[in-house]
Amino acid sequence: MGGKEEEKQLLCLVLNKSFLPFDIVSWQKAITLEIMGRCLTLEYHPVRKVKSVKRAWNVPIVIKVNSIRSTLVTGAPTRMMIYYRDGFRCAYCGRMLKDNELTIDHVVPKAKGGKWTWENLVTCCRDCNIRKKEEIWIPKYTTPAKPKFLFPKYMKLVKQVDTATRSIWDKYIPQGLVKSLAL
Ligand SMILES: [Zn+2]
Repeated sequence: MGGKEEEKQLLCLVLNKSFLPFDIVSWQKAITLEIMGRCLTLEYHPVRKVKSVKRAWNVPIVIKVNSIRSTLVTGAPTRMMIYYRDGFRCAYCGRMLKDNELTIDHVVPKAKGGKWTWENLVTCCRDCNIRKKEEIWIPKYTTPAKPKFLFPKYMKLVKQVDTATRSIWDKYIPQGLVKSLAL
């Protein structure tokens, strides 16, 4: 993170045909899609342009394409999806850690019939996991529920764009899409 605003990446949010964001691409890809007529450009960067030999180009930062891909959550969670939902934060002590320092905890332990579901899984640090053993603890730092949306790519890349891009992207991100996002 950090760095000067003008050194931040130029990236483009991609919306599907229902205007729901599902991807983020480089500015080169966004301009290529625009030139090929494969997208509708909804927003350009308010300040920055990119220059080729012949001209300066406005940079699309929000485009819409004719796709049905989405970030709607369906089915059972994966380990990483639980980490993203919980913001890489231990549900019991609140510490934020890297994925290789985290574990998945069954709130109701497997031995007591707890299942691999959105409602029964939380992100947990190793210390808490060892101390908890087969007990049932109440998660303090997350709500174990199935999120409506989950958009890990956004969570990673929103930190690498400038504040102008971020405030424009905000208009296109539905509530709940980036639950527990820790910026
Ligand atoms: Zn912990």
